[in-house]
Amino acid sequence: MTYEFLGGNLALDFTNTLHSHGESDPGDDLKTAADLVEWAAQTGLLRDKDTHKLGRTHADQARFRRALALRELLYEIFSRAATGKRPQPQAVRNFQSFYQNAIRHAEFHPVADHYRLMWPASTRPLERISQEIARSAAELLTSEALTRVRQCSGESCSWLFVDNSRNGMRRWCDMKACGNREKVRRFRRNLRRSVGKSSGAEDDFGETRRPLDVKVRGKRFNRKLLAIRTHRP
Ligand SMILES: [Zn+2]
Repeated sequence: MTYEFLGGNLALDFTNTLHSHGESDPGDDLKTAADLVEWAAQTGLLRDKDTHKLGRTHADQARFRRALALRELLYEIFSRAATGKRPQPQAVRNFQSFYQNAIRHAEFHPVADHYRLMWPASTRPLERISQEIARSAAELLTSEALTRVRQCSGESCSWLFVDNSRNGMRRWCDMKACGNREKVRRFRRNLRRSVGKSSGAEDDFGETRRPLDVKVRGKRFNRKLLAIRTHRP
């Protein structure tokens, strides 16, 4: 599959591989270690030749599970930051331990006019993916950009992103996906109100809720909503 990178930070893009945190069907793009390898290849963290046979060993399975635990931890920290609150101290301490462990073997390498922390070639690729993610998370956590972390306002979308817009009022992970979807919902809601019908326990289409069931560009959509959006002028 083709992944979307709209978070403005590698660590946020990583948390966004789970679409709807906290829901019974959260839409997880990383079901296997092979998915993580593919995701990392698309970020540029891995070269194609590095991905061969990756993720099949027991050790890689364990690395994959640790990566998913890191994803939950980062979501806990940055989704809280998105509400303007300080992350829970315990979550920060847990991440600190992970980060300290991650940079233990990193070395400074000159890149253009500055240096960059890099890991030796002997580091296992799946380990290095988590280490790079931890480094990006630490950079975000220790910068003023932390105050610009936002969470998408789209229903059933828990994506996080750094808001680099001039007015700092970005609401959507992607205007074309979640933004338009919300506009259609509002349009339908207003239409129903104007004809004097109450939606009650029903959704905007007069039907009881059912799981979102279509994936478009990696995001999930309700079939009917998608049809309406498609047929709007
Ligand atoms: Zn969204």
